[in-house]
Amino acid sequence: MAVSDAARAAGFIEKTAELTVAAGAAPGGASLVGLTRDQLKDSLAAIGVPERELKMRVAQLWHWIYFRGARDFAEMTNMGKELRAKLAAAYTLARPQVVSEQVSKDGTRKWLIRMASTGPLDKGAEIECVYIPETDRGTLCVSSQVGCTLTCSFCHTGTQRLVRNLTSAEIVAQLIVARDAIGDWPGATPPEGAFVPNDGGRFVSNIVFMGMGEPLYNTDNVVTAIEVMSDGEGLTLSRRRITVSTSGVVPQMERLGAEANTMLAISLHAVRDELRDELVPINRKYDIAQLLDACRAYPGLSNARRITFEYVMLKGVNDSDADARKLVQLLKGIPAKINLIPFNPWPGSKYECSDWERIERFSEIVYRAGYASPVRTPRGRDILAACGQLKSETEKLRARARMMAEQGIGAEGVYAVGNGE
Ligand code: SF4
Repeated sequence: MAVSDAARAAGFIEKTAELTVAAGAAPGGASLVGLTRDQLKDSLAAIGVPERELKMRVAQLWHWIYFRGARDFAEMTNMGKELRAKLAAAYTLARPQVVSEQVSKDGTRKWLIRMASTGPLDKGAEIECVYIPETDRGTLCVSSQVGCTLTCSFCHTGTQRLVRNLTSAEIVAQLIVARDAIGDWPGATPPEGAFVPNDGGRFVSNIVFMGMGEPLYNTDNVVTAIEVMSDGEGLTLSRRRITVSTSGVVPQMERLGAEANTMLAISLHAVRDELRDELVPINRKYDIAQLLDACRAYPGLSNARRITFEYVMLKGVNDSDADARKLVQLLKGIPAKINLIPFNPWPGSKYECSDWERIERFSEIVYRAGYASPVRTPRGRDILAACGQLKSETEKLRARARMMAEQGIGAEGVYAVGNGE
């Protein structure tokens, strides 16, 4: 069921998932990739590894899966042959299937990833994941839901049905797939000609939860996935380089800060409740004042850990000088930076992107008030890897527009994202 304009107009804020998968469950069952230490421990116990060995065996598996990127139990040479054979008989190290990879001229990569089926009703959920390399960082934009719970009026993902939440393992698996594809494991090399950071660091140095879905409607799995991704003995992503972007699920924000300790981004997009009610309908539940109070209370907030406010530039809607002044007034006292996002039109959207001069003027007002206000650079235009355009664009590609992409004729761009770390 897509969300019709009528449904939006009737005040439709949230969708219900068609499928549910228990938090922490590992759909597809057999793969150990993406699992937490506790889940690995259970998996080992289930094949008869004695209790006294479990801690050591988990540490070994952890190292092979998350530090070395092992794809075969045979590589795990510090484990006995017998145990390796048992593991191989019961489990796999399979990744979700990469259905397609598209590489932009600017080096941005987009993968359509099919998750393992969770049961007879599920053919395997498809999500997209985008890699945005720069010289000194590589940002991976991950999805947290299949579709989205919410119905933001400027966002194409909001028009799609919500299939289900992703499990923590499926969220982590997006990072594993990306590292496989760009050769970001010890001893691996990037594909020929690939654009990856050249500063000597990891090719994936930053994660943003800005793909499909509202992460704070899937907080359990998002928090668990962050735990796995930031573990110092495995994937070692710094929590300060992980940004969770929410449209404003106020009751979950404190928990995110306390438990995941990540950077926070807010999809603000409007400075008046009346307009935000339309653009980001969750505002009808938690208005701007409540949202900003929750921002002020975000654990760990400081000048070194500022909140990013995302603001999509919509022509004649939210882009006036008065809007810019109101924005800086609202954010007073909150260590913040403001990302101005030129709008990505999508088929059927009723908005247009603000003119460039208007964006510059808006940015100037914000900047003069003392806020960094970068305008996101469009990335990956030619592969339709755009914010809010994920998945549905690929479906169209499949159906009829692949040729267009090959010829470099696409919808408006993807944006370089990152938390400025
Ligand atoms: S902007 Fe984010 S929260 Fe809103 S509909 Fe799109 S994906 Fe969902």
